[in-house]
Amino acid sequence: MKIFYKSFINFFLVKFFLLRDRYKIIFLMFHGVMDLKGSPAWQPLRPQLSPTTLDEYLRILSRYFSFVTIDHALEMLTGKVPLQPYSIVLTFDDGLRNFKEHALPVLEKYKAPATVYVATNHVEQQIPFWFDRLDYALQLLDGEPYSVNIGNEIITFVPGDREALAKAYKQMRYSIKKKQISDEEMQDLLYSTATLIEKKYGRSLKDIIASDPWCGIMNWSELKELAAAGITVGSHTVNHCRLAFVTPEKAEQELQNSKRAIEENLGLACNHFCYPIGSCNGQVADLVREAGYQSAVTTKYGFNRIGDDPMKLCRFHVPYGTDGEGVETLLYRISGLEAFFSKIKRFFIWKKS
Ligand SMILES: [Zn+2]
Repeated sequence: MKIFYKSFINFFLVKFFLLRDRYKIIFLMFHGVMDLKGSPAWQPLRPQLSPTTLDEYLRILSRYFSFVTIDHALEMLTGKVPLQPYSIVLTFDDGLRNFKEHALPVLEKYKAPATVYVATNHVEQQIPFWFDRLDYALQLLDGEPYSVNIGNEIITFVPGDREALAKAYKQMRYSIKKKQISDEEMQDLLYSTATLIEKKYGRSLKDIIASDPWCGIMNWSELKELAAAGITVGSHTVNHCRLAFVTPEKAEQELQNSKRAIEENLGLACNHFCYPIGSCNGQVADLVREAGYQSAVTTKYGFNRIGDDPMKLCRFHVPYGTDGEGVETLLYRISGLEAFFSKIKRFFIWKKS
C-alpha cells in the first residue's frame, strides 16, 4: 500500500514538474549502449547502458516528450521558430561503434533523432581513448595494489576486487576533470600509465580495438551511413582534449581541424560541438563560436531556456538503470524534482548546523 501511495504521489509530482518546465529544452547525454548478454572477453569498469534500458527510457519519454533534432532545438532556443513545449534532444558522446548496433535500431523504433559527437583522430587512427585503455589495463593487474599520482592525489587500485576497482576508476575520472594540469601533461600521464601496465602483462586494448564491442570507434564509412540515416554528426575535438587546459592556439586547431575532417569526410556541414570531459570556460566557448559552430554541449546539469548561450548547453546524465530504478531516476532528474529535493535537503542540513 505504501509503495502504491509513493508511486501515486511521484506520478503527479513528476507530471506537475514537467508541466512547470515544459518550455525548457532538455538535452540527454549518453555514451555507449551495449548488450550485456553473452560472454564478452572483458567488461569495462564504467557502467554501460543496455539496449533494453534505452528502449524502456525512450518508450516512457515518448509519452511525455517530442524528440527533436539539435538543429530544431537550436532554432527554438535562439527564437527563430516558436518553442515547442516538451522538447527533448538525445546526444551520444565519443562515436562508439556499439551506437550503430545497439542504439540506432531503438532510436529508429521511436523515430528519435540523435547527435553523435566524434573525436576525429580516434576515428581516423582507430585508437582507443585513454579512459578505455586504462579501464582495460587496470583489470589486468594482479598482486600488490597499484597507485597512480594524479596532480598530487594518489589513487590506489586494488587488483581482484572489481567493486573497489570500479570505485577507484570512477574517482580517478572525477579527479581528472578538475585537476589544473595541462591537457598534454595529463594525457601523457594517463597513456604512459596504461602503456606501463600493458607492457607488464603483454596485452593492450589497442590490439583488440577493431573488434572490441565496448570501446570500438566508428570509422568514416560507418559515420557516413549514420549521417544518411539522419543522425547528426558533431565534433568532439581531434584528440579528445580538455580544452580549458590547452593553449588557445591548440584549442583553435582542435576545433577547426575536427570540423574540417568531418565536413570533408561526410560531405556535410558540422555545426555542433561537444566539450570532451565537459572542459570549457568563457574563452573556450568564444573559440568554439569563432570556429563556426552553432552549438556546444557541456556536461553541466540542467535545462536550456530561450536566450541561453548556445555554446554552453546543459545536459542531464542518463542513469544506467543497473539498480532497477532507471526510469524513476530519469524522470526525477529531467523533471527537476531531483534538484528540488536536494535543495530542500541542503536547507535542512544548513538549518541543523
Ligand atoms: Zn568524450
